[in-house]
Amino acid sequence: MAGKYEKTEQIYEGKAKKLYTIREYKNLLLQEFKDDATAFNAQKKGTILNKGIINCELTNYIFTYLNKKGVKTHLVKQISPTEMVIKRLKIIPIEVVTRNIAAGSLLKKTNLKEGQELSKPIVEFYYKDDSLGDPLINDSHALAMKLASEKEIETLKKAARKINKILKPFFLKRGLKLVDFKLEFGKDKNGKIILGDEITPDTCRLWDAETNEKLDKDRFRFELGNVNEAYAEVRKRITGN
Ligand code: UDP
Repeated sequence: MAGKYEKTEQIYEGKAKKLYTIREYKNLLLQEFKDDATAFNAQKKGTILNKGIINCELTNYIFTYLNKKGVKTHLVKQISPTEMVIKRLKIIPIEVVTRNIAAGSLLKKTNLKEGQELSKPIVEFYYKDDSLGDPLINDSHALAMKLASEKEIETLKKAARKINKILKPFFLKRGLKLVDFKLEFGKDKNGKIILGDEITPDTCRLWDAETNEKLDKDRFRFELGNVNEAYAEVRKRITGN
């Protein structure tokens, strides 16, 4: 018997997720999480055991939490271990990165040392374009490319700071430091800006609060070992599963 949400056509396949249309629900999509992992602009490829299940569960949990705190997200409902129904958004092609602790690409742009706490969170924009390698851009670049209006740019920054304020203590209570993370936003049918995509160890740097052990995709990126175990540990600390 077909369920309430019957997936019809695959409209997109990304590095970690697929998107499908749903019969009779024009304003909804089905987002499916895969075990596939890529790094360094897809030069490194692999799979992480159970990542699809874990990332679907984590995104469902965290987006539900954000919703309760007044942040609008695209989540409608998780319908299987790896699938969730989402609102159809027009994605703004900007990756909004927020940082609390220096790590990753920030170390190459500044004299900050890995692990250094930032006195104030840094919010950065990257233009989502594989052929350009997702370059760092500023507000004027975003305006020049008409990626967003001046007002929308402010909305993105404000939303990123608000989400950071909610998620920092959320993770810390679960023994994890939120080092940095990437968000994607889109516009719903009324033009309202809403949080989309996912929040998972693929898109966040999460360090053990006591030992600073890396419990995120950096274990895959830099072949640190125990990749599956790190994702399973984050799942356990957040959802208890
Ligand atoms: N990030 C992401 N997708 C990207 C690039 C970055 O989810 O395409 C996340 C990454 O996991 C980290 C944060 O954004 O939590 C900041 O990443 P950074 O700019 O340091 O780039 P990286 O060195 O990870 O490529």
